[in-house]
Amino acid sequence: MVKENVKSILSELPKGVELVAAAKTRTPQEILEAIEAGIKIIGENYVQEAESAYKLVGNKAKWHFIGHLQKNKVRKAVKIFDVIETVDSLGLAQEIDKACLRENKVMPVLIEVNSGREDQKFGVIPEDIEQFVKEMSVLKNIKMSGLMTMGPMFGDPEDARPYFVETQKVFEKIKALGIPNVEMKYLSMGMSNSYKVAIEEGANIVRIGSRIFGKRGRVYGL
Ligand SMILES: *Cc1c(COP(=O)(O)O)cnc(C)c1O
Repeated sequence: MVKENVKSILSELPKGVELVAAAKTRTPQEILEAIEAGIKIIGENYVQEAESAYKLVGNKAKWHFIGHLQKNKVRKAVKIFDVIETVDSLGLAQEIDKACLRENKVMPVLIEVNSGREDQKFGVIPEDIEQFVKEMSVLKNIKMSGLMTMGPMFGDPEDARPYFVETQKVFEKIKALGIPNVEMKYLSMGMSNSYKVAIEEGANIVRIGSRIFGKRGRVYGL
């Protein structure tokens, strides 16, 4: 199943759009199966889960962090992950910067945009992004590389479109500012039910879980 799913998604993705397999709650075996079918990037929401998967999967794929990163997990996270997609506060950015200095690496990061301005969601609201990018751009061991958004969850993906449009506009605006040490390269939007709409609105990373691995719910019920 996983194999067929990956192949069918990859065959229809436009050139230049990268696929992140969102692997929360999946076993290392399932992850390896996805990699064999052509997945190049694994997305993880939990550092601990990523650590145990990483032991078996290692560098067979790149690792993107896509969950809410707690400051006390940053040191572990920077050892495993190649990109952190969900920076949502200056304090977190500073923590990542410090940990990367210790590891002697530069971490590409995306800012999580709370495009729905939802109280219960993490992320920076669209009107605060510009200021936030400027403050982050002085940190030497992180590389500002783009934006990520979840958007509100809808049954009908068309309802998500305005949130993707708004995030894409912020992305283009920041890009046009040409801030030193800021490279607006990645726009990560869209999940299993919304990735086609997200791509139409400019996403070049899509994060897909259930359409690859099947329905979740065995462990965390997420
Ligand atoms: C789980 C998750 C996804 C994938 O969700 P699906 O609906 O299973 O495709 C994408 N992005 C984030 C941040 C997630 O936590």
